[in-house]
Amino acid sequence: MRMTRQWIFSHWHISLPTHTDMEKYDYLIVGSGLFGATFAYRARQAGKRCLVIDKRPHLGGNVYCESVEGINVHVYGAHIFHTSNKRVWNFVNSIVEFNRYTNSPVANYKGRLYNLPFNMNTFYAVWGVTTPAEAQAKLDEQRAEAVARMQADGATEPRNLEEQAQVLIGCDIYERLIKGYTEKQWGRKCTELPAFIIKRLPVRMVFDNNYFNDAYQGIPIGGYNKLIDGLLAGVETVTGVDFFDIGCKQGASGRWQFTMPPTDGCTSGSREAEAATLVYTGQLDEFFGYRFGKLNYRTVRFETEVLNEPNHQGNAVVNYTEADVPYTRIIEHKHFESFGPAVYANPKTVVSREYSTEWQDGMEPYYPVNDEKNSRLAGQYRELAATMRNVVFGGRLAEYKYYDMAPIIEQVLGMEID
Ligand SMILES: Cc1cc2nc3c(=O)[nH]c(=O)nc-3n(C[C@H](O)[C@H](O)[C@H](O)COP(=O)(O)OP(=O)(O)OC[C@H]3O[C@@H](n4cnc5c(N)ncnc54)[C@H](O)[C@@H]3O)c2cc1C
Repeated sequence: MRMTRQWIFSHWHISLPTHTDMEKYDYLIVGSGLFGATFAYRARQAGKRCLVIDKRPHLGGNVYCESVEGINVHVYGAHIFHTSNKRVWNFVNSIVEFNRYTNSPVANYKGRLYNLPFNMNTFYAVWGVTTPAEAQAKLDEQRAEAVARMQADGATEPRNLEEQAQVLIGCDIYERLIKGYTEKQWGRKCTELPAFIIKRLPVRMVFDNNYFNDAYQGIPIGGYNKLIDGLLAGVETVTGVDFFDIGCKQGASGRWQFTMPPTDGCTSGSREAEAATLVYTGQLDEFFGYRFGKLNYRTVRFETEVLNEPNHQGNAVVNYTEADVPYTRIIEHKHFESFGPAVYANPKTVVSREYSTEWQDGMEPYYPVNDEKNSRLAGQYRELAATMRNVVFGGRLAEYKYYDMAPIIEQVLGMEID
């Protein structure tokens, strides 16, 4: 068995073999998010040697949680795992057991609360209707009014998101629960957003506040770090190291040569290393030196606060749907993992207000922008990526595509790793 030593200094956490020859890896994995970590897990199971590096000071990518007052805070935004894929569900539960958290967000519009997704509870709160037949009649009436308004204005098809939403759900629900929230999310008026952004607005004619239709959902018991730790157990990892700082070059043989970061105070400097295959989960345009231009993103800014009360809003997720409230949501993290009376076992709570903003250099790139310019640019980079050998471009950043967590894991479980 290979001996390993561990050094912890500054924000680097390095776990490296002790001998001094050129280090040889099967895989150099850039990024320790769910794609990189799941890939490393499977490669290790296949007897491969992997090195995982991450530029952040911690492992886990966007699912990383920080413990604040004993509460797991979702630092990069609230993450709720959901899937109908039994193989994926069994896989994640084989690493760490998941709890029974069910996402049932509430919307606050001008101080009144509405259940999401749109269901009989919502219709009762908006119109006072108590039966599915009454709710259906109200929806039909509101939709017909929206179509008539649009036609009176000379249009046969919705010309923007506002018209599209009103045709699908009517004016009352659009005004209270969609308009302000969507405008804050996109930073633009709904009348200036394309109709295709909202293709469907599902409604439930039953009293069911469970946001997802999936068969399985939950949060890892003990938090997402347990999932990442389980996936990366026994894998060599280096945090606080940017891929673009290790001089990684592809040799004529197709192998990747790079310099291990210097281990100040621990060894006499940098060490040479090589890997047969590179697994890259960073930004696609950055990999190619932005040669065609920069891809754009939407991002979210979080304001996180510890409160001296055990239960601030009674729910993990509350959306603020009016335009005048600058944030889109307040997340109360403890509700992801404590239920019923256990909520009161901790006298404090942690909340995060989410502000949706335009991405600029230095900010976290969260959501790809699916407009024509960015789709074309991403296509150019993807074509270039397809010409390369011994590289896997995977995950949300390297594919420039929004993925939920489960599809990322499903993708990696479906890959041939040898
Ligand atoms: C705000 C938000 C909320 C979300 N909520 C949910 C949810 O509720 N449910 C759900 O299923 N999904 C959710 N997702 C999606 C989920 O976060 C992704 O599916 C998942 O994180 C993708 O994993 P990944 O490995 O592709 O990316 P990431 O987790 O982003 O990992 C990529 C890693 O690569 C590292 N990296 C990048 N460049 C370099 C470099 N040059 N050198 C070294 N390291 C580098 C980064 O530091 C990062 O750690 C949400 C996403 C966002 C943005």
